[in-house]
Amino acid sequence: MENLTDYKEIAEIIKERGGDNFKYCYQCGKCDVVCPWNQVRQFSMRKLVREATFGLSQIEGEDIWRCTTCGKCSRHCPRDVKQVESGIALRKIATENGIFPASANPIRSIRSSLNGEGNPLFKDRNKRADWTKGLSVKPFTGDMEILYYPGCYLSYDPRLKKVATATANILNKAGVNFGILGSKENCCGESIRKTGDEELFKHLAKENIKTFIDNGVKRILVSSPHCYHTFKNEYPEFMVHFEVVHIAQYLFELINNGRLKISKEFRKKVTYHDPCYLGRHNGIYDEPRKVLQKISALELSEMADSMEDSLCCGGGGGRIWMDTPKGERFSDLRLEQAVETGAEVLVTSCPYCISNFEDSLLFRKDSETIEIKDITEIIEEVIS
Ligand code: SF4
Ligand code: SF4
Repeated sequence: MENLTDYKEIAEIIKERGGDNFKYCYQCGKCDVVCPWNQVRQFSMRKLVREATFGLSQIEGEDIWRCTTCGKCSRHCPRDVKQVESGIALRKIATENGIFPASANPIRSIRSSLNGEGNPLFKDRNKRADWTKGLSVKPFTGDMEILYYPGCYLSYDPRLKKVATATANILNKAGVNFGILGSKENCCGESIRKTGDEELFKHLAKENIKTFIDNGVKRILVSSPHCYHTFKNEYPEFMVHFEVVHIAQYLFELINNGRLKISKEFRKKVTYHDPCYLGRHNGIYDEPRKVLQKISALELSEMADSMEDSLCCGGGGGRIWMDTPKGERFSDLRLEQAVETGAEVLVTSCPYCISNFEDSLLFRKDSETIEIKDITEIIEEVIS
């Protein structure tokens, strides 16, 4: 297969695109041992890093698109190779050259949806606030205490609109003075950036930043760990700093300061899945668990891989938009781990995780044994 050394020294290009640390790799193979791909098919991040070192990267192949950016390999790498950044550098080269293999082909049309409508779901920008119909949700004004930014999936996806509704109901019950930006809100841009499209990420981010500043936003509440990650860790690249809080943290805050009162039992066995971008990438493990532990009769158990070693659902790094064949979905493995704990509810706090787990559930013969819920959907049931 042709490689880009024909055009320019690949190692130099990767370095320019921010993936320089691959040179520290000493091929120990620890990344491949922990990578979830190797539970479902052969894939070697170690090999990708090795090929990059020698300028032999196969930019046209499927492999550079497999990484979900879950961060598990980086946690175990003894040489701080920053595999995620190196992998994204390769995707930047592919994207800049318009090279997309079959699995990554959907990204082409998703880019136009993001450019035209500000969301990756081919939905009308003007309908972004339609989920609020019948709910008490106001447009954001600068005197409000917090902006609620539901993000794309909670605004449009039928399953995830239930999570946005639960969130709005909880905020209203807690007396939070909040508002939304509706059609003025763009996709946060986190996932398209992980596919290597730096230009589109910057466009989305700059528009959002301008909107936040024009509307007097200071504190932002998000439902997606992906929005959380990019607002908190990536938007500061544009010399702006907004206070960002994820709903799992905010629920903990509202309960602790007495604004939200849990008054009912939740008599079920529950297990909590740490989304990669809340847990490994941002270290938020305790608050969601502490919130669940405050609910009487709820029995919380841990899965085989939890907290720092959480098994990725498969949706990060833009993989949510790519087709993963049956038999290669991490979410199937994770759901099995959840069922093995005896849990009746698999709870999490990320729209990508919920989408993937709901899909996996459809293919299980015992699909009635476990439900998938966002943490807000449990809290909504136990407050009055
Ligand atoms: S864990 Fe780090 S040093 Fe070891 S092979 Fe992977 S990238 Fe190289
Ligand atoms: S970030 Fe996750 S999916 Fe990507 S190579 Fe590392 S362990 Fe595998």
